[in-house]
Amino acid sequence: MGEPAGAEGPVAGDATGPTEAEWAAAVAAVRDLPPDRRVLLICHVNPDGDALGSMLGFALGLRRLGYRAVQATFPGRPELPEAFQAMPGLDLLVPAAAAWTDPDLVLSFDAASASRLGELADRLTGPATAVVIDHHASNTRFGTVHLVDPTAAATSVVVEQLLDRLGVPLDVEIAECLYVALATDTGSFRFEMTTPAVHEMAARLLATGLRPGEISRRIFDTRPFGAVRLYGDVLRRTRLEPEAVGGRGLVWTYATLDDLARHRQRPPVLEPLIDSIRCTAEADVSCLVKQVAPGEWAVSLRSKGGVDVSAVAVALGGGGHRLAAGFTGRGEVEEVVAAVRAELPGTGEPGEDQG
Ligand code: 5GP
Ligand code: MN
Repeated sequence: MGEPAGAEGPVAGDATGPTEAEWAAAVAAVRDLPPDRRVLLICHVNPDGDALGSMLGFALGLRRLGYRAVQATFPGRPELPEAFQAMPGLDLLVPAAAAWTDPDLVLSFDAASASRLGELADRLTGPATAVVIDHHASNTRFGTVHLVDPTAAATSVVVEQLLDRLGVPLDVEIAECLYVALATDTGSFRFEMTTPAVHEMAARLLATGLRPGEISRRIFDTRPFGAVRLYGDVLRRTRLEPEAVGGRGLVWTYATLDDLARHRQRPPVLEPLIDSIRCTAEADVSCLVKQVAPGEWAVSLRSKGGVDVSAVAVALGGGGHRLAAGFTGRGEVEEVVAAVRAELPGTGEPGEDQG
């Protein structure tokens, strides 16, 4: 959730989608597999709407093609934000610990690098064909068959095309999954990459009869009261640094495990919180530091356009898109934010003003 991949705007230069040979290889990888074989689908850690929706939408498509042994999974704790707990296809989801170690075909969704697949990354280096379906320009081209389209607003755009090439018609369940994905990554059709093609895809999905109002309410506009109070605590300590980033401004805050415990909430509830600080008019760059363990933080970065935050994230060991990126930070909150400040442009040479 809250991943404005589409915010990076139409990709400039020579970015193109998969070649015909790549499409053919991906179609063959599925078509040549007898329906009794085991297919394992994996998406990135802390799955957002695009990761989960793309994966489950394709998993349902495989079911329609007659595949009986289909598992969908993601690394880490098998826990989903409340928002996704009514998604079609969830019955195909298994905890990472229960995922087959020797599937006959593997597909990866919305992951730019193997590291985003955590403990499941080894499934892509075994004997099985590994199809990588993604839209990150920074995709490292892990796996064996690549369907990577940096011009796509969401991974689900690529999934819809693959389902079409496999002859799977959209039904309301598949469409709901792909709609959640598309709406998530385009920020509900608000970001720059919301092209005519995005709306045309949305029209095809809507034509199946899905309920956009109900879906949006569930995935964007619903949270437990405890989370509302938790957001209050976290937003109250937000810091604005208008002079940072060469005067473009930085806004940041943090949430600890203690904050979560105090309000009886689980970490996934924090995913949309970045949207509540990135709206700050006085700052181009926003940063949310979320504690995942003592001394370990999941950091979300956003820019309104003035800064390439994926460069900041990559320099700190993470990745993402130009206007939405993240990394794992270590130490105290102040140290993590100092590391971000040091990598942002307009704050001296990278590394200079750390600490
Ligand atoms: P979010 O802030 O919503 O978690 O993530 C924003 C974007 O940054 C997404 O495209 C996500 O894939 C990427 N991202 C977030 N955290 C990490 C990380 O630790 N490593 C990498 N490689 N990418 C990340
Ligand atoms: Mn995505």
